[in-house]
Amino acid sequence: MGRIRENVERILNEIPDYVRLEIAAKTRSAEEIREAIDAGVHIIGENYIKDVKKVYPLLGKIAQWHFIGSPDMQKHDLLKNKYLEIFDMIETVDSEKIAIEINEKCKKIGKTMDVLIEVNSGREVQKSGVMPEDTLELVKKLGSLENIRIKGLMTMGPRLGNPEDSRPFFKETKRIFDEIKKLNMPGVEMKYLSMGMSNSYKIAISEGANIIRLGTVIFGPREL
Ligand SMILES: *Cc1c(COP(=O)(O)O)cnc(C)c1O
Repeated sequence: MGRIRENVERILNEIPDYVRLEIAAKTRSAEEIREAIDAGVHIIGENYIKDVKKVYPLLGKIAQWHFIGSPDMQKHDLLKNKYLEIFDMIETVDSEKIAIEINEKCKKIGKTMDVLIEVNSGREVQKSGVMPEDTLELVKKLGSLENIRIKGLMTMGPRLGNPEDSRPFFKETKRIFDEIKKLNMPGVEMKYLSMGMSNSYKIAISEGANIIRLGTVIFGPREL
């Protein structure tokens, strides 16, 4: 113990104040997550509802909870009232279909869900996310859904050996972010740009990220 706190404090010292630090908490214990939050992390990002089931009862609302996994694959659980109530934001909306489903379920519980649109900035066939050229059109379609609020964009980008190689994908996502922001559409507030992981967060920040999602650099390697 103590190592997680040190890592968080070092990173918080390194990044500008406006950047929100999110932990990618998959496979981590409630104890590890608590240490990160106590050290100043703002957001808990979870990919899997099965992890939320384990740690949420022990932690509760000690920070913001964001869903960063595939909504399509975990719809059965994610769309339960309980989990819609836990999450403050779903960062990975990438189709009209899933947005409509989230909207309808949220309407039933009287909640308006903040969402980010996930962009497949690397145009990788196996990855989730909307294609860069289709992002604006998707945002236009979702603007009228009353129980979701579009708050920005999220991207992963390809996994690359050299972090510098991620830059063009971050740049492209920021360009789309700015383009949509300029249009000032009703129901759309381009406020958050979530990009950058352990190996690439410095580059992501230099390209305009204001949420970074970090796992390994805070907790150490994952054992699966
Ligand atoms: C695991 C994960 C991260 C963080 O990955 P690290 O390389 O461990 O920092 C960020 N975003 C998402 C969506 C993830 O699943």
